[in-house]
Amino acid sequence: MKQLLEDVIAGHRLTEQEAVGLLKTRDRRVWEIAAAADRVREMKVGDTVTYVRNQNLHVTNICKNVCGFCGFGKPRGAEGTYFFGKEQIQEQAVLAKEREVTEICLLSGVHPDFNAESYRDIIAWVHEVVPRADIHTGSPDELAWAAKKSGISTEEVIRMVRDAGLGTLQGTAAEILVDRVREIICPRKVSTDEWVRIIKEAHGMGIKSTATIMYGSVESEEDRIRHISVLRDIQDETGGFTELVPLSWLYEHTPLFESGIAPRGATGREDLLLLAVSRLFLDNFDHIQVPWQKVGLKMTSILLRAGGNDIGGTMFVDAVSADAGGEAGGFFDPAEMRRIADDLGVTLRQRTTTYERV
Ligand code: SF4
Repeated sequence: MKQLLEDVIAGHRLTEQEAVGLLKTRDRRVWEIAAAADRVREMKVGDTVTYVRNQNLHVTNICKNVCGFCGFGKPRGAEGTYFFGKEQIQEQAVLAKEREVTEICLLSGVHPDFNAESYRDIIAWVHEVVPRADIHTGSPDELAWAAKKSGISTEEVIRMVRDAGLGTLQGTAAEILVDRVREIICPRKVSTDEWVRIIKEAHGMGIKSTATIMYGSVESEEDRIRHISVLRDIQDETGGFTELVPLSWLYEHTPLFESGIAPRGATGREDLLLLAVSRLFLDNFDHIQVPWQKVGLKMTSILLRAGGNDIGGTMFVDAVSADAGGEAGGFFDPAEMRRIADDLGVTLRQRTTTYERV
């Protein structure tokens, strides 16, 4: 392993098999992997930790997918569902503007009635209030659903939402890009091939996106690496991913956990290795985000020394994590981020969605 890690630092591109071996490490060599990832991070982006001033805006928690791993999306008519109209959406957008955010994440369920016009209108309403913010929304699954409902192509949907004010796409709905796993955790979402096709289409139209992995439920180490390998191949082709956002699964109140199909999410060792091995494997990504809302602030600090270089966003609200038992809270105060950065001896810097300086 020592030789392999030295080779990676010197530029060797990890194979899937080598990465699976690293991910399965259980002894003290996990620290050697983390140290190698920290070294690669330093060589790539230096000793600066970035964050984005952003706000989530939930339009609805009604969702046609009701994925087994999710505690947020609910079927129409279920208790506790909500659906905001123009006035309420713009009220939240005004609040975001007052908070001086540079990014608004529209993060919602895939409402069964949503079509291309629905997404276009919601984006336009937000854009009208906060014209300078990057409106970050639209997973490949949402785009596919909108296209189907409106009877048009996904390319046409992307053009519509772009013209309405979309800034960047969310690389969500990826979960694990292995169809056997998707059949268990999110059977109503687009297939792996469809996800890849749509994200490449958007990148080809000049729209950047994040890349995500949602791990810690029923998938194996091999599945995790297969997923990250799919992302690396796309990045080789398009260069359209801004970053990897590893999402450690929050299991509480989710059907997958409650029915006994999946364990209690990833362990700390798995969180550490997923992030570190991603940094080593994804030689064509500059930025790896540490998802504080999924792993908590203390683990966030550790992961910033294991390959992570971005601390995510201020968020303000995060019902998706809260509904699945997330304890880290909705608002991440930049003062707390600075405390973590100072403690690690690195510089904290605000960025835009696409990693330009603010
Ligand atoms: S993960 Fe997204 S698509 Fe799946 S149920 Fe939750 S909100 Fe709906």
